[in-house]
Amino acid sequence: MPFSTLGLATPIQNTLKQLGYDTPTKIQAQAIPLILQGDNLIAAAQTGTGKTASFVLPILQRLSEGQAGRKKRARAIILAPTRELALQVEQSIQAYGQELGLKSLAIFGGVDEKPQKQALIEGVDIVVATPGRLLDLYGQRAIHFDEVEFLVLDEADKMLDMGFIEAINKIIARVPEEAQSLLFSATLSNPVRDLAKSAVYNAKEIIISKHSASKSNIQQWMVGVDKDKKSALLAHLLSEHNWKQALIFIETKHGAAKLVSQLEKRGIAAEAFHSGRNQQVRQQLIEQFKQGDIQYMVATGVAARGIDVENLPVVINYDLPYPADEYVHRIGRTGRADAAGEAVSLVSKDNFKNLCMIESRLGHLLERRDIEGFEPKKPVPISVLNYVPKHKR
Ligand code: AMP
Repeated sequence: MPFSTLGLATPIQNTLKQLGYDTPTKIQAQAIPLILQGDNLIAAAQTGTGKTASFVLPILQRLSEGQAGRKKRARAIILAPTRELALQVEQSIQAYGQELGLKSLAIFGGVDEKPQKQALIEGVDIVVATPGRLLDLYGQRAIHFDEVEFLVLDEADKMLDMGFIEAINKIIARVPEEAQSLLFSATLSNPVRDLAKSAVYNAKEIIISKHSASKSNIQQWMVGVDKDKKSALLAHLLSEHNWKQALIFIETKHGAAKLVSQLEKRGIAAEAFHSGRNQQVRQQLIEQFKQGDIQYMVATGVAARGIDVENLPVVINYDLPYPADEYVHRIGRTGRADAAGEAVSLVSKDNFKNLCMIESRLGHLLERRDIEGFEPKKPVPISVLNYVPKHKR
């Protein structure tokens, strides 16, 4: 896929050509269109994936379309953990934006603040800063945040490790709520997710890391099946494969309880894990599942976030998740630490649109397996890749 398909303006495309960038990296291909259309974003991506250009390019484009700000007002703030990274990102901005005439500035501690203040008086579009010094300058009224259109937290995990949480929270609280927010982090650990909750609302999520969908040690396949045959098919698959353990995802808590009793009738013991069960019971279930005392856990997607089991051999989507990112998340729960894993989805015809979205997100079709005796009366059509749902802008 060439850069020209991502919606970037010609001057930016020309610069990329000059720099010898032929094709977007994975994170660029995914993040650039989303940022251009105004989405908030959380992305798990490590250095070396091309993540800097993935947020710098669309921000440059959007800023170049708008009006220059007043003095002492940045239109984009990029927070970075270290002086080195701040400088590096600012250099990338200069390189990528050489045709655009936007001004950028790196701000960090440990050096004289006067030149930084002077540059802010002269007017800057994009500030790349370490949190402490930025807050310091804000306190001195050397910079105001009331015209900020973009807030980026780069290497969020590292910023948290370095103890910047308080400064970051203060900055977030002072930036206009409607600013577009982007968070990048090597990992999406719980503290990073907590930060994302307060900083990045309604975010789209991209994962380009070792838990990504492209992970080759996860074998993904689906079975087309009529809706009313799903529980029988699940029972069949569980008996057939006899996986050591399985985490089975289902849409609703009511559905979870029902499925557990349907499995029971077929002689298969499973536990239901959902928000309707009290915290203590859920904690116990997680422990038992971790210990291997529970073989099959039927969980709703939201509740299952708390379940983190090493070496889970299979996850099963009894119901397909929505949105597509949730699928990537779910399958990341198997095949950890490079162990082999399987991700199985039971798909009925009425899930077709959802399947299209997931397969478009993955960039490929899922392997289909026919299970004898469960051939659907209503077959699931083959997906259209690059599917865009109608209700989306
Ligand atoms: P980053 O992950 O942002 O630290 O970028 C890693 C390196 O990849 C940097 O040196 C970039 O200049 C380079 N780079 C980023 N995007 C591309 C691309 N699409 N094609 C070639 N090189 C790239």
